[in-house]
Amino acid sequence: SRYFTITDYPQGTPQRELFELHSTELPPLQDGEVRIRNTWLSVDPYMRGRMSGVKTYIDPFELNEPLEGAAVGEVIESRDARFKQGDKVRHMAGWRDIAQLKADIIEPLPEIEVPEEAYLGVLGMPGMTAWSGLNLIAKIREGDNVLVSAASGAVGSLAVQLAKARGGTVVGIAGAPEKLAWLESIGITAVSYRDKDAQQLSADLKEACPAGFDVYYENVGGICLEAALNNLRVGARIAVCGLIADYNAEKPSTAPGNLAMILIRRIRMQGFIIFDHWTEYPHFLEEVGPLVTKGEIDYEQTVEEGLERTPDAFLKLFEGANKGKMLVRLQ
Ligand code: NDP
Repeated sequence: SRYFTITDYPQGTPQRELFELHSTELPPLQDGEVRIRNTWLSVDPYMRGRMSGVKTYIDPFELNEPLEGAAVGEVIESRDARFKQGDKVRHMAGWRDIAQLKADIIEPLPEIEVPEEAYLGVLGMPGMTAWSGLNLIAKIREGDNVLVSAASGAVGSLAVQLAKARGGTVVGIAGAPEKLAWLESIGITAVSYRDKDAQQLSADLKEACPAGFDVYYENVGGICLEAALNNLRVGARIAVCGLIADYNAEKPSTAPGNLAMILIRRIRMQGFIIFDHWTEYPHFLEEVGPLVTKGEIDYEQTVEEGLERTPDAFLKLFEGANKGKMLVRLQ
């Protein structure tokens, strides 16, 4: 098995040299264990938090031990009655080519006819996050005007489409011109945050949706949050899903200067961690699965080829180099 480790807990933006590729001979399979050849690996922004050496809602990665993350693969050997050779499965032993795990922590892929990697993106954790943030946290209602930051990413791209289906104006904030063009192509008003301060972004959001927003789906923080606060309506809800603008920061960021808007406009702002809502996953699949198989959801993917490229794929998330879900395909 070949796997990646990190050699240190980085300050600021992680460098490529932080990641080391190792090779090891796996021990013989024990009763109750399964050996899997991973076919797709997920890289996700939350992994940066696990590289900080501090326990948050999840333990930090251990230095010089195999990194973890969502993966799908095929069973190549099984000593557990629940799995047989050839089964397609999902588990958390990513960042490696071959995983050997107790069967208890492996799940069969759901039986919806989609490419297997969709279970790492639109029908996996990011998709579930988009759906939960809108429905369970922001409690979206018909006709709500919705603003989404990092709107062309794995979570954001589903959030804008689910929001759009509720009939209000949906505005997405993104970086690169091709991302803005993609958002416009699916009927979302796109606003760039690049080379802008909060005041400029705020003015552009006002122009995009003069009536203001009922829901802000927050993936970024920083100037996006400050600009959004100026454009929320009375009684608006903010679902704080992520704050990626801060993940590589060396010092904690300060609160936006216009926090008073929360008071003045009676805004509810709520953070959430998707693991707490995982019991709703079947409900999510039931609702979003058919939309995906019928082609009613446009889900994009950015794919890096080969295990060696996994750290590069991860680091690209912070450069905004991905459209849709960032994935690594293994041979
Ligand atoms: P994305 O696919 O959205 O990839 C990250 C994107 O973030 C980039 O493509 C980039 O897009 C944008 N970005 C990166 N750095 C910055 C920056 N400094 N300022 C503004 N935008 C930036 O990732 P995911 O969809 O997987 O995750 C999106 C967010 O959701 C993250 O914050 C993540 O932590 C969070 N999340 C939270 C979960 C939870 O349980 N609460 C679960 C899953 C994800 P652009 O080109 O637009 O800049």
